[in-house]
Amino acid sequence: MSLPSHHPGDTLLIDYAGGALCEGASLVVATHMAFCPCCRRMVGEMEAVGGALLDDLEPDSVSPDCLDALLARIDRDESLRPPPCRPALQPPAPQRPAHTPTTAARPIIPEPLRGYLGGGLEGKRWRFLQPGMAVIDLRTGSSAVTRLVRMKGGVAAPQHTHGDIELTVVLEGGFSDELGSFQPGDIAIGDPSIEHRPVADPEGCLCLSATIGGLRLTGPIGRILNRFMDF
Ligand SMILES: [Zn+2]
Repeated sequence: MSLPSHHPGDTLLIDYAGGALCEGASLVVATHMAFCPCCRRMVGEMEAVGGALLDDLEPDSVSPDCLDALLARIDRDESLRPPPCRPALQPPAPQRPAHTPTTAARPIIPEPLRGYLGGGLEGKRWRFLQPGMAVIDLRTGSSAVTRLVRMKGGVAAPQHTHGDIELTVVLEGGFSDELGSFQPGDIAIGDPSIEHRPVADPEGCLCLSATIGGLRLTGPIGRILNRFMDF
């Protein structure tokens, strides 16, 4: 399996390492990290640097500016700075003969997501959302709506924008939207400035998403559906 090419970025990883993300957003970032050794290493280094710097501080010197001071020190000191996230160079994947069975029917559910699901997907009830699209809602506190989303090949989610942040990580298959093409492990970040319409790849798509601040359907039909449907 190739490594992800869409990453959370420094700000989200720093918030994750510092425990500043809500539970649903943390679960999406942690699921991305299960696919991404680069982001795992960066978070490990951030946690080590943060712990070492906090150990150096006197208790009464910790102020609201502490994070700014930490980031400034990381900027100044090259040895403290994690390397930028780049896809590792890999040899081209061998061509698979058309008749060879694949493992595409077996979704990849890494920890800690597996713990939230109580295991794999076997026997889980999916809730219908629209033709070709179903969800399993996860309990992650009230700050985010966190769910597994399954889309059949070629199905399009309604065009929408975001009340705040939407984080989506692909578990299996893939989708494309105005921002690019997303494959297993890739994380897509939506915000109020982004309006998009994700379309599942021909083999379908299984994703984990956390939505903070809700979604707002756009386009003439979406504006009507907003009143009736729970996206
Ligand atoms: Zn990454």
